[in-house]
Amino acid sequence: MDRAWSGVPRSGMRGRDSMWRPQLASLGLALLCACATNPVTGRPELVFMSEAQEIALGRQAAPEIAAGMGIYEDDALQRYVEGIGLRMAQESERPGLPWQFLVVDDPTVNAFAVPGGFIYVTRGILAHMSSEAELASVLGHEIGHVTARHSVSQYTKQMGAQLVLLPTVFLPAELQGFSGALLGSGFQLLFLKYSRDDERQSDELGLAYMSRAGYDPNEMVDMFRTLGRSSRSSGGGRVPEWLATHPNPENREEMIQQRIALLPVDARSGTVGRAAFMQRLDGLAYGEDPRQGFFSEANVFHHPELAFRVEFPSDWKTVNQRQRVAALSPEQDAVIQLSLAEGDDPEEVARQFVASDGVSGAAPQRTSVNGLVAANTEFTASADGTPIRGLATFVKHGDHVFGLLGYAPQSKFGARLTALRGALASFARETDPAVLGAQPWRIDVVSPERRMSQAAFARAYPGPASADELALLNQLDAGEFYPAGAPAKRIVGQALPR
Ligand SMILES: [Zn+2]
Repeated sequence: MDRAWSGVPRSGMRGRDSMWRPQLASLGLALLCACATNPVTGRPELVFMSEAQEIALGRQAAPEIAAGMGIYEDDALQRYVEGIGLRMAQESERPGLPWQFLVVDDPTVNAFAVPGGFIYVTRGILAHMSSEAELASVLGHEIGHVTARHSVSQYTKQMGAQLVLLPTVFLPAELQGFSGALLGSGFQLLFLKYSRDDERQSDELGLAYMSRAGYDPNEMVDMFRTLGRSSRSSGGGRVPEWLATHPNPENREEMIQQRIALLPVDARSGTVGRAAFMQRLDGLAYGEDPRQGFFSEANVFHHPELAFRVEFPSDWKTVNQRQRVAALSPEQDAVIQLSLAEGDDPEEVARQFVASDGVSGAAPQRTSVNGLVAANTEFTASADGTPIRGLATFVKHGDHVFGLLGYAPQSKFGARLTALRGALASFARETDPAVLGAQPWRIDVVSPERRMSQAAFARAYPGPASADELALLNQLDAGEFYPAGAPAKRIVGQALPR
């Protein structure tokens, strides 16, 4: 049984922001006493949140982030990352926060700090690192965002202002309110964007924490150079890339180098931990994990673990969020979403769906979809005053009932009806052995016996990644060679069935 898919509270539309209402109310109260002292600068600042509220916000968001992204299943790796993070948090101005450090199961290159001390690194960013000190530099930087309360002030600015943050690439203005249900509110904390000043301050703080914890601060320079290079479209990632949330300050590398020069002599060097770190990376999943479901080029969604497939319209934009899969029409006026529903009987689930808050609909019709027991219904709802019309199909497959919703503003429904119907009727058992057996690619750490060009390395260690991608993972500049005898990363695995 797939853990991530089983954690879905309920199919269909949860009320917009239901989780946030108490939070916003308490923010309103806090406006009365809005002055707090910044723990890092000691200066008073306008923050609409007490430390207790900050921690409560993080505690509320953490389970949603864990469910939405998935925690990477490798206890030894989790403990390793947590150990480094906690050591540095103890060196920070706020050692008493309920610090938590987790590796999330996402191929995107990024790291996140959620108010209250909840820090996440993706397995995608780990794959781009080459030493323990580089990991410490990223964790230290994220700790800095928390200790300096950047995440709190971004939150107050971007979310406290009643904005529900959504990835603009995906959600149309027209459907934003309605589609808020696509992304949990806690999850949206991961889309907060810092200012360049925040970035500079976090670099500075991170540098101090890593150096106090005994790491070589020079590794931060390499790490940020790599992050600057690595940002590109992330295949199957659920969150934005590093540069989308952490804008690159001007002269970042020089500024870090200047800071290092100001450190006491014995703090300008320290542990690098390359060999130990590379050993930890051996076997790490790399790229999209097909076990959690993946889209083919033709927009067919395949889920190997749950053995089903759904055909989304081929030119729609799709997103795979573990708990939900969704597609948006090119005109950005219709959405199809798929999620697990709670319940056993499709007809009963459909009845509950049309009876839920804000939704009205016809009595469900029992039917069959590609040989599976199912129920259909039509519904109407309202999204911030826009009337919405949609179709819902609930399908029983294995031990689960899957819910498929297709909807559009009332005025666009007719134009999208054929596409919505086609997708909802396409749910089927997956029988292709190549899909059912699909596995993620993995990092394999090797030690080339001789010095090798990038092309020679790619030939000597063939796999699904190109020579350029391997060079990026191994932090080599154009034309740079793989040194003899040093651990290097190759990628092993099969291309996904298309
Ligand atoms: Zn940052």
